[in-house]
Amino acid sequence: MTPEQKQRDREDGGLADSFGRRISYLRLSVTDRCDFRCRYCMTERMQFLPKREILTLEELTGLADAFIARGIRRIRLTGGEPLVRKGIDTLIRTLGGRIGYGLDELTMTTNGSQLREHAAALAEAGVRRINVSLDSLDPDRFGFITRGGELATVLDGIAAAREAGLAVKINMVALKDLNEHEIEPMLRWCASEGHDLTLIETMPLGEIEDDRTDRYLPLDGVRRALEARYTLTPADYRTGGPARYLHVKELGSRLGLITPLTNNFCDGCNRVRVTATGQIYMCLGHEDRLDLRKALREGPPGEFDRLLDKAMRMKPERHSFRIDQPGAAPAVARHMSVTGG
Ligand code: SAM
Ligand code: SF4
Repeated sequence: MTPEQKQRDREDGGLADSFGRRISYLRLSVTDRCDFRCRYCMTERMQFLPKREILTLEELTGLADAFIARGIRRIRLTGGEPLVRKGIDTLIRTLGGRIGYGLDELTMTTNGSQLREHAAALAEAGVRRINVSLDSLDPDRFGFITRGGELATVLDGIAAAREAGLAVKINMVALKDLNEHEIEPMLRWCASEGHDLTLIETMPLGEIEDDRTDRYLPLDGVRRALEARYTLTPADYRTGGPARYLHVKELGSRLGLITPLTNNFCDGCNRVRVTATGQIYMCLGHEDRLDLRKALREGPPGEFDRLLDKAMRMKPERHSFRIDQPGAAPAVARHMSVTGG
């Protein structure tokens, strides 16, 4: 970090890690529960955390405010499935009220199953764009991947979001021999519907029934295959997340690639994650964490900020995911649904 950056951080109290990266983005998990059981994310008989361990809505609000006071400008609500959290509309409304008062943007990543019921609340709270996970446009395959999800309900939820004025980005985890032949149709469908599409490499997080190496599809190969049919050119567009975007000339659309395995994206990392129990993780790919809930519930004044400063010092330079060893233990034991994707 340059002396100028250090000086600036001291002056504004903002968060920066020991590699000089400004941390301005919080991914806040509001629950580890979910109504789907996506095969790459969870086990079929997932054990969820006891409710008493989960932060209350008031605690989530207090935590978000404490982060905003330290320079967090963007918050993405996630989970588990954020829209299954009881009282979520209240939290959305409360945090939406922070937009323009320290917070620049409030967003959400959702599986879309409850979007019809919540789209208006999101829009009214000032949310402008959301990510919806959609790994297949085939009802049977969608049901298989999600272990019981209804495609029609999710598509209806996406329609409701658009009716409410929300921009929708589709997230699709690229899965070898499962949905890889659907990538191009998905790209065309997204272009025709006006959604950006982001493809994600499957990451080794938590034990699942399948062997991830069987399903891992490197996106550099997907990109080359698409380039045989489409003109893909790098786009300047960034959303604050790890996706790198390409213009798809023939479709007039945008394609994002999240490539933790084939192309490490840690250099520009600007984010931390907090679980629904208030554990702050500085990196998706590491086990290190600090307990913010204890500081929120029992800590002496200043303890929360002290922990945030410590978290900044602990933030690692990069993750070290590998997925090319069949049968290997996952890089980290916790599932994506716990940390918040
Ligand atoms: N339930 C919501 C959803 O599915 O959008 C939000 C939470 S989910 C954990 C967030 C994102 O993480 C989703 O796009 C999901 O596809 C992705 N995801 C889950 N497990 C993953 C894994 N092991 N590797 C890569 N992406 C994963
Ligand atoms: Fe639930 Fe999202 Fe995980 Fe699927 S990816 S099981 S929808 S948390």
